[in-house]
Amino acid sequence: MDFDLFVIGGGSAGVRCARISAGHGARVGIAEERHWGGTCVNIGCVPKKLLVQAGEYGGWADDAAGFGWTIQKGPHDWGKLIAAKDREITRLEGIYRKLLVGAGATIFDGRAVFVDPHTVEVAGKRITAENIVIATGGYAERPDIPGAELGIISDDAFYLKTMPRRVAVVGSGYIAVEFAGIFRALGAEVHLVYRQPLPLRGFDQDLREALVEALTAQGIIMHPGCLPKKVETDGQRRILTFGNDETIDADLVFFATGRKANVKGLELEKAGVELNAKDAIRVDEHLRTTQSHIYAMGDVTDRVNLTPVATAEGHALADTLFGNAPRTVALWNVPSAVFTTPPIGTVGLSEDQASAMGAVDIYVTRFTPMRHNLSGRNRRSLIKLVVDKETQRVVGAHMLGEDAAEIIQGIAIAIVMGATKADFDRTIGIHPTAAEEFVTLRTRTRTTDLAKAAD
Ligand code: NDP
Repeated sequence: MDFDLFVIGGGSAGVRCARISAGHGARVGIAEERHWGGTCVNIGCVPKKLLVQAGEYGGWADDAAGFGWTIQKGPHDWGKLIAAKDREITRLEGIYRKLLVGAGATIFDGRAVFVDPHTVEVAGKRITAENIVIATGGYAERPDIPGAELGIISDDAFYLKTMPRRVAVVGSGYIAVEFAGIFRALGAEVHLVYRQPLPLRGFDQDLREALVEALTAQGIIMHPGCLPKKVETDGQRRILTFGNDETIDADLVFFATGRKANVKGLELEKAGVELNAKDAIRVDEHLRTTQSHIYAMGDVTDRVNLTPVATAEGHALADTLFGNAPRTVALWNVPSAVFTTPPIGTVGLSEDQASAMGAVDIYVTRFTPMRHNLSGRNRRSLIKLVVDKETQRVVGAHMLGEDAAEIIQGIAIAIVMGATKADFDRTIGIHPTAAEEFVTLRTRTRTTDLAKAAD
């Protein structure tokens, strides 16, 4: 065999797995056909956050007047922002490549296709390996409606030549609400068209309601309960028809209607690797596919599609195969954030999920952050704890408000360790902060028991 491990895909999961395996002394090859670092670094989390931060400066300039500053906000230069973002991404992509080479992995720029269970072909070269990892990620999918190709997907959003003035975003998952916030913060008129009554299906109900309030306060025009029907073109304009034959005439229609596992063209049948009902690669808890020496991880398995989960899986598999330290990654209590303005941070169970299993004590508070009593901005935060009534363990923590992502990361440690409400209560707060609300929630808002209600 040419290698002990061959990794297909140089994204978050693949790079970590290759790098750590090589560090353990394995002979490692890795192929990437598009960009090192994958979706997260190039057309996902990282550039997205830079665009979010660009939008925040505009808000701060507006808010400064309440603190005595006289700031004349000039126009925003989209071209300058995208060029700065591109420079940063090019730098990061170079670092990813260097890390791999530095660790001793052999890198292949090209698409890998299975020839048989131990052989792949990259750019006409056949390569054999003892173990193979599939970490090819996912791709954004447009809905199946007439004219869908006239709309863009998130990949395209990072390379727009000009900033659109009027945008229709379709969907209400992470990508939809984040980009609605970015375009609005940079001055566009933004419509969010989504089929649920509230955005972010699967998140805590109070959080979803608070998000509607926040997006509306930001000036985003919400169209709940609406299915997209077609997109037509009128020169440069795009006309989206949705719901009850309503239309939006926009510069840009943006489909953020979900992602699919990237398995196209891998010739998995030659490797004996099977898909699951979601057309993603089927794996067991050890990331093993239906072929025992072939593993899959990250978005191509469509379980918890988050970069830190993918990197954790890559690291765990490398330690298991070559580090003499077998382990798996737990997929519960995974904290995550949605970078809206203000952001959301969440860990553990929603009220509905937890109370479907038994009675829960709910603690919720809503407040205006101190800063905005002076800035005059209409913004309210939400902080919520979901506590198992019987054990008093905190099983969910949710926040919408400034710095929510930073705050929830710390709260997540407590929850992973099994902290109880009493542990939160005996922790001294840091004053004056929003985060101290997590340790000063004294009055129970309600007790919910969906399990009992279902009896
Ligand atoms: P999601 O699956 O989160 O959301 C898809 C959205 O599109 C939902 O609102 C869904 O509605 C809607 N939708 C799906 N099909 C249709 C259709 N045919 N017509 C109308 N609406 C439709 O996908 P995203 O693209 O937002 O994000 C993909 C993944 O990327 C996420 O799962 C997330 O894990 C990851 N991600 C994480 C981020 C973060 O951590 N901050 C940021 C960005 C992405 P419905 O709810 O009714 O199904």
